[in-house]
Amino acid sequence: MSFVETIKEAGIVGAGGAGFPTYVKLNAKAEYFIINAAECEPLIETDKYLCRTFPERIIRTAVLVAEHLEAAHCVIATKAKYKREIAALQQEIDRQNAKVEIFGMRTFYPAGDEQVIVQEVTGRSVPERGLPLDVGCVVDNVGTVLSIADALEGKPVSEKYLSVTGAVSHTGMYHVPLGTPITQILESAKLTEREYAVILGGPMMGKMLKTEEEIKKACVTKTTGNLLVLPKDHYLVKRSELPRERMIRQAAAACIQCRMCTDMCPRFMLGHEIRPNVVMRNLWRESMLTDATEFEAAFGSAVNCCSCGVCEMFACPMGLSPRKMNEYAKGLLREKGINPERNMRPQAREGIENRKIPTERLIARLDLTPYVTHELPEERKLSVKECRIPLSQHIGKPALAAVHVGERVEKNALVAQAAEGLSVNIHTGMAGIVKEVTDTYIRICGEEV
Ligand code: SF4
Ligand code: SF4
Repeated sequence: MSFVETIKEAGIVGAGGAGFPTYVKLNAKAEYFIINAAECEPLIETDKYLCRTFPERIIRTAVLVAEHLEAAHCVIATKAKYKREIAALQQEIDRQNAKVEIFGMRTFYPAGDEQVIVQEVTGRSVPERGLPLDVGCVVDNVGTVLSIADALEGKPVSEKYLSVTGAVSHTGMYHVPLGTPITQILESAKLTEREYAVILGGPMMGKMLKTEEEIKKACVTKTTGNLLVLPKDHYLVKRSELPRERMIRQAAAACIQCRMCTDMCPRFMLGHEIRPNVVMRNLWRESMLTDATEFEAAFGSAVNCCSCGVCEMFACPMGLSPRKMNEYAKGLLREKGINPERNMRPQAREGIENRKIPTERLIARLDLTPYVTHELPEERKLSVKECRIPLSQHIGKPALAAVHVGERVEKNALVAQAAEGLSVNIHTGMAGIVKEVTDTYIRICGEEV
């Protein structure tokens, strides 16, 4: 089996992002192979934990992937302040005499954004709505590299490392089967709040779960890297409850057109045409804009927004919501079939170095300072009795169930087959009996249940 076929069989998707199938990404040649170990969002601990714990496997596999891509450069991009992790990786690089460099970045948000990393490492700006490959780079998360290491040893993606942070007694690392209910992890993490919400991912771009039903239904997928627990009355939870109509009214009434949202936007600084202040300025007259050219001039730049949240969670002095309004404008553009031209050769804007948002300031702004832990998280054990494995944990078509109710499955068995086209295989991280198969998930219970 070829390198790419092995990765495809193992069902590997980007471990740190939206879940793009890795076999597609690696079916290429590139000048740079960049490993993203920068932990993009505040409070997440997973990349650091993996670097400290598995440096030998990370370096060994990084070299193999770089050889496959015929990359001249293999670079691990991380934050320069992760001294312990860098020391562990460097020791392995020296021991293996590996052609791998470590690139230490400042501690800013969004240091782990794929396009920002490419700019930092190579000085090249990825085209608007483009891919790192457009400028000769392939970027994979460090967790994805470890999944490749597993695949080369015959193990598919069936378990996931994730950190649990926020309003819990101890920030902890968990290694659990895919489909593990998050309620089970929360129980073990010892919540410190009776009324709480959970963010799947980080505080800037993660998915907020507020109701008991949402939390009960949620389970670990191939892209879950962190659970952030917050009290129900926390600023971030309250802010996520703001209805859209109110955001539009606030934009019309309170936007002072200071342009801070645009000037601090990481994508604007890469040279992309993205102007949230223009979107905000025009919201009040949306229904009056009947001409497509006029409409595009007002809202077109929203298509280049990556939803990083810098504009609304940090830049805007009026507490407005330009990110949400960009998302709204994107929907309007889709409805009208407007697809603005792409700048294929953007150049980073002057001053890009001075517009990086220090993570510490962001943490303070988000009212997360009480949850910063200076201790290394310990790995906590969990005995999982039941998994609910979603058939869609990736970008592309959902996988198709390949098991039936009553069937006994072993750990690492294939339970859903990739659909035709863009899709990935799904495996179980737990041996047991299949109790339920639906269009969206497979439920497996450990045999003692
Ligand atoms: S969310 Fe805001 S800061 Fe981030 S890319 Fe979109 S407009 Fe720029
Ligand atoms: S930062 Fe806020 S107030 Fe300033 S232009 Fe942007 S949305 Fe308006």
